[in-house]
Amino acid sequence: MMKVFDEYRALSDDTLKPDQPKAKRFIEAMRKFLDKKENWTFWLPYILTLELCVKCGTCGEACPVYTASGRKEIYHPVYRSEMLRRIWKRYFTLSGKIFRGLAGAKDVTEDDINALAEAVWRCTVCRRCAMVCPLAIDNGLITREIRKIFDAIGIAPDELKENGTRAQIQYGNATKTPTEAFKDTLEFIKEDIEDMKGVSVEIPVDKKGVDYLVINNAGDYIAFMETVMGIVEIMNYVNADWTLNTPDTGVNDVVNYGLFYSDAELVAVAKAQLETIRKLKPKVVVIGECGHAYDSFILYKKLYKEMYGEEMPFKLTHIVALIDRWIREGKLKVDKNKNPEPVTFHDSCKWGRCAGVYEEPRRVLKAVCKDFREMYPNREMNYCCGGGSGFAIMFKDEFLKFRMETYGRIKAEQIKATGASVVATMCANCKGQFREIIKYFNLPVRYAGVSELVANALVYK
Ligand code: SF4
Ligand code: SF4
Repeated sequence: MMKVFDEYRALSDDTLKPDQPKAKRFIEAMRKFLDKKENWTFWLPYILTLELCVKCGTCGEACPVYTASGRKEIYHPVYRSEMLRRIWKRYFTLSGKIFRGLAGAKDVTEDDINALAEAVWRCTVCRRCAMVCPLAIDNGLITREIRKIFDAIGIAPDELKENGTRAQIQYGNATKTPTEAFKDTLEFIKEDIEDMKGVSVEIPVDKKGVDYLVINNAGDYIAFMETVMGIVEIMNYVNADWTLNTPDTGVNDVVNYGLFYSDAELVAVAKAQLETIRKLKPKVVVIGECGHAYDSFILYKKLYKEMYGEEMPFKLTHIVALIDRWIREGKLKVDKNKNPEPVTFHDSCKWGRCAGVYEEPRRVLKAVCKDFREMYPNREMNYCCGGGSGFAIMFKDEFLKFRMETYGRIKAEQIKATGASVVATMCANCKGQFREIIKYFNLPVRYAGVSELVANALVYK
């Protein structure tokens, strides 16, 4: 593998093709996304971000990659943004065109483009830096915009594209699980709950017109089954009119990796998901424990109107909001003594900084755990675990080591300081990263989904 930016590689040679010229195509794709009509998602903050930075450096101290790296300049949030700004100034401003060749207005080289392609896979778009910038500049947003330009010229990690969005549209889920295997998994879940809890549960599938269509991250059915089991038990406990759906109906996976790297992919997955939901006609769509999925569905409200010329005909919520409501209404009876060990909570970036979901999980965990402990800092200043924006499924070429030695190290220290033996989180990507952090730093801790802890605390007469 050719060295193109630092000692790590997120994009293989097959994906990046470092020997092939791409600067011209990059500039053309960048031109396209500077046009408001072509950039429906975040055009205004993107344009403002290109123009405004005063290079005060405040954002660097908030960035877990930069600080944990020993403050290496190449990991400063502004380093990456400046790579893009230099291109913007040279090719898209009058002064850049006039003073071509002078410092700050130099032609972009193929090496610059290769380095930039890798540099944008050192930031998880966690947006912690945006919380401290005096000008409200969002360097995470710049990262995403650069990824978008690269996707437009055919450069995106295969974990997120070929095995992510493309697989999801083709198979109905990114895990490529067919209907029969999915139904077998549900049967296994049903038997397991009956064996472990002594309660009988029903797991309806593909029902039309129900109150609640629950859509989980398909990876949960393989890697974090306890979360799904918790959700199944809870929906049964309150005797909800609910359903899951199989790939026979279209898409049964709530993820949308397009949010991490491409508007075109984001829309393609959204269409497939919305077509599925329109067939099933639920009153409420319930997002399982998946942070970026909830953020994507918030964007779908705008998209839906453009696609179908009407408001979304279903309501949107998430499983922890439902649980919180049902506990407060007395529909879920819980005993916190059933979870006696110290539990802390990790605010995932996509639920927290991006969607503002902070209090529901805390109210729930305080109701179902005897010893709830805050992690510091928390809420909007919590540190990204390092699994965000697709990193949790990117392992190639020392990339796991990068995840551990930067974000992972900070998160491990944060968890240790709480003294908790369980770290709860409501995001599959975060769980994936915690699985690795616990192993890498040998922490005497386990991770758990919020729904899993709730199910464990349920009181049966
Ligand atoms: S804090 Fe804001 S203005 Fe200061 S360097 Fe960072 S992005 Fe630029
Ligand atoms: S979004 Fe997060 S990882 Fe990216 S530059 Fe900002 S603080 Fe660092």
